Amino acid sequence: MVKEIDALRDLGRIVGDKNVLVGADIAARHDTYPPGAPMSALAIVRPATTTEVSALLRYCDDHGIAVIPQGGRTGLVSGGKTRAADIALSFERMTAIEAMDQHGSTMTVQAGVPLQRVQEAALAAGMSYPVDLGARGSATIGGTISTNAGGNSVLRYGMTRDQILGLEVVLADGTVLSSMNRMMKNNAGYDLKQMFIGSEGTLGIVTRAVLRLRPEAGPRATAWVGLANFDDVLALLTLAGRESSGGLTCFEVMWPSFLDAVVLAGGHQMPLATLHAFNVLIEIASRNSQTQLEHILEAGWEQGLIADAALAASEAQARALWAIRDDIETLVSGLRPLFLYDISLPQVAMVGYLDALQSALRDRWLRSVLIVFGHVADGNLHVCIHTGDEAGHGAVDDIVYGLLRPLSGSVSAEHGIGLDKRNYLDVTRTRDEIALMARLKKMLDPKGTLNPGKVLAGI
Ligand SMILES: Cc1cc2nc3c(=O)[nH]c(=O)nc-3n(C[C@H](O)[C@H](O)[C@H](O)COP(=O)(O)OP(=O)(O)OC[C@H]3O[C@@H](n4cnc5c(N)ncnc54)[C@H](O)[C@@H]3O)c2cc1C
Repeated sequence: MVKEIDALRDLGRIVGDKNVLVGADIAARHDTYPPGAPMSALAIVRPATTTEVSALLRYCDDHGIAVIPQGGRTGLVSGGKTRAADIALSFERMTAIEAMDQHGSTMTVQAGVPLQRVQEAALAAGMSYPVDLGARGSATIGGTISTNAGGNSVLRYGMTRDQILGLEVVLADGTVLSSMNRMMKNNAGYDLKQMFIGSEGTLGIVTRAVLRLRPEAGPRATAWVGLANFDDVLALLTLAGRESSGGLTCFEVMWPSFLDAVVLAGGHQMPLATLHAFNVLIEIASRNSQTQLEHILEAGWEQGLIADAALAASEAQARALWAIRDDIETLVSGLRPLFLYDISLPQVAMVGYLDALQSALRDRWLRSVLIVFGHVADGNLHVCIHTGDEAGHGAVDDIVYGLLRPLSGSVSAEHGIGLDKRNYLDVTRTRDEIALMARLKKMLDPKGTLNPGKVLAGI
């Protein structure tokens, strides 16, 4: 085992001394969201190029030092958490947008570029990069690729996996696997990049990517809709899908518990006069989005699905509606401790699942609070639970995931497994799938250098 002081000197030789942060610079950071205890690590290392990442990994692999990649540190499953002897690999110096190909609709970027910068650069070129989520200002392209992030537009464009044409990955031993494909079609053998997308930094380090851009969809029309029951929510979803000719981009549902937690505390205006059992933020982007959305609302009204609705009359009003849905900051800083879950299950099973969950929680914690919102069109619910009992976290996990098992739901719709959900992977994946994941991990990272213990316990 190399001595700490020698390791720091050697790492400095690879990336430059000023790019090896130690002491107070480490403690000033958090490696979990919501922020928990200050970070602890041997060093934060900030390479600027793929060559430096490669040299760094070769060194750490040779010397038994674990490397934990960190992007914007907005991940919600403790996937970037470091231990005292680990190296945190930061991408804050790898933020270049290297190329834009307007005819081929691609953008080539380094891993550390924030999602919002990519979105803005695409828009400036008259196109769009359709991955969008509340943490857009901090989350990096590398982080979104490594978690296969979903977000608000999955319904129309798919997850991050569907937006990646090419990928450059550095393996544990420093090998640079460059697969910077820019073509829509490429069936030449195995599509290796897919193995790394969503692998949470456990199989390889993403250093660069070729992103697929889409044509700008046209102006957006946004509305907030109040509904009385969940069947009406699903009927409105079907109606909106049918009547928008593929233009439906977002269909976000919020239960009253979510609005109770964020509207007043976050300084927002309630969009409708009363609070409804279900509150939907619906968005269409197309050349005639406003007409389409008005038509959908009228039809929903006539069919008795809609109790009340407000159509955003300006971009500012649309932003104000989104600010409520995106206000996770207020949510997590309100009730503490708040346990966060990101599950998926068939839409028809959602109400029964939530009723069973509420009653199981109340049986044990009479005053427990259940907050629900999410990307219902994708079968994805974000469930947040406050019991007032930090020590009971494991018991709440057992209840949330136990009720999911018979429904063949997923313990992670989009946030990944990280440290927080690895004990429940078998709710969603078969024994054979988990065994193959472990074999892949051991083959690609035999010494356990890359983000050890994340996704799969013990390796
Ligand atoms: C307010 C808020 C809203 C969110 N909304 C959504 C949402 O709607 N949908 C969604 O899917 N997620 C959402 N998230 C979760 C989070 O934003 C995403 O998981 C995002 O993809 C993480 O990006 P990051 O750069 O912050 O990654 P980090 O948090 O830094 O890292 C996430 C994981 O990826 C690994 N990693 C990071 N960079 C690399 C790299 N270059 N190579 C290899 N591994 C790497 C890390 O080790 C870790 O395991 C939200 C989070 C917040 C705080």
